[in-house]
Amino acid sequence: MALTNETPNSAIQGIGESDQFDASLFMEPGSTPVAVSVRPHRAGLEGHAATNSRSPDAAMPQVGPLIDRYGRVHNDLRISVTDRCNLRCVYCMSEEGMTFLPRAELLTFDEMTRVARVAHELGVTSIRLTGGEPLVRRRLPELVSNLAAIGFDDLALTTNGMQLASMAESLVNAGLTRVNVSCDSLRAERFESIRRRGDLATVLGAMSAAEAVGLTPLKVNVVLLRETNDDEILDFAAFARETGRIVRFIEFMPLDAQGEWDRDRLVPGREVFEQINAEWPLEAVGDHVGPAPAERFRFADGRGEIGLISSVTQPFCGTCNRLRLTADGSIRNCLYSDDEHSVRDVLRGGGSDDEIAQILRRSVWAKFPGHAINEPEFLRPVRSMSMIGG
Ligand code: SAM
Ligand code: SF4
Repeated sequence: MALTNETPNSAIQGIGESDQFDASLFMEPGSTPVAVSVRPHRAGLEGHAATNSRSPDAAMPQVGPLIDRYGRVHNDLRISVTDRCNLRCVYCMSEEGMTFLPRAELLTFDEMTRVARVAHELGVTSIRLTGGEPLVRRRLPELVSNLAAIGFDDLALTTNGMQLASMAESLVNAGLTRVNVSCDSLRAERFESIRRRGDLATVLGAMSAAEAVGLTPLKVNVVLLRETNDDEILDFAAFARETGRIVRFIEFMPLDAQGEWDRDRLVPGREVFEQINAEWPLEAVGDHVGPAPAERFRFADGRGEIGLISSVTQPFCGTCNRLRLTADGSIRNCLYSDDEHSVRDVLRGGGSDDEIAQILRRSVWAKFPGHAINEPEFLRPVRSMSMIGG
């Protein structure tokens, strides 16, 4: 099957003691506050109505689902439980000198659960826990259990896998339904050079442990970097065929803390498709219409599936249904927009659920139609991936 420009997806597109971190996991327990800025993600749009998101807007619906000016309904909430991590992947963090939010600024599990409950009342049906590395937040299963009690259709986790093997069972017992494990190389030495810490064997073991407790089909996230791991596309395709794990190839996005993103380092999803399709013919799964960012393809011989997350070269903004809650309690409507609305002030100032709902509605209403990475006036977001919650 040939991938064309008309491919539909591309076209439309805490803190009491109980949940403290394990400080021993971190080399740099820094505590420099991170400024939250409000800025459109492209220059010249300061007058755009969507940037004026704190002003009352009579057109913003007060009932019904979370909908933006472009008709996109938002039912997927990503919760970043921490900005900390036990790894330092080259495309995400810098090797030294990362600073992290002071712990008092992080939302507690009770605060996250309250925001999630209000979001659920506004039509949010799926939650993904992310970070930073979510499993370095102590007692994460307690949060999973609180969220499961609300009754989401889907309660998923994205993790680097370093601590998953020992926690998989308690996470499933708490109500986790799905897991994505990040793994950028199947070669031990290269894995370590990309992730700077951690090791491949532990992550592969974690995948097996997660499957053993029913977290299937497991998804594997691979960020491809030119001249770093782009010679492993077929190896990962073979891995998907042999294991039944869904390998998702992710384009490098301009959200690395080091600010070294370069278009030349990005491996376009189209190239991944062409390489794999030439070796093992692929066919599209579904019609690519709908909010899923990954274009899904199954191997024509029935042995497994891959996904392409081509956020840069084939944006899926037109069907985006996501909003984010950052670890320090800001609602963010796009990875690429610095327009953040703090719910923490409301949570800690005795505010009502209605006030939280208003912030969610306003944030969604203020969303831009697209991320504009491919436009000359694009401005890199101030916060990087691990601070926002990937
Ligand atoms: N620490 C967890 C992990 O690595 O899976 C969860 C957080 S991480 C920010 C979520 C996902 O974002 C991972 O799959 C990671 O590979 C991906 N990611 C991080 N920085 C990225 C970047 N600059 N471009 C594309 N993907 C990135
Ligand atoms: Fe940590 Fe995940 Fe970022 Fe890697 S991608 S540094 S594991 S938060």
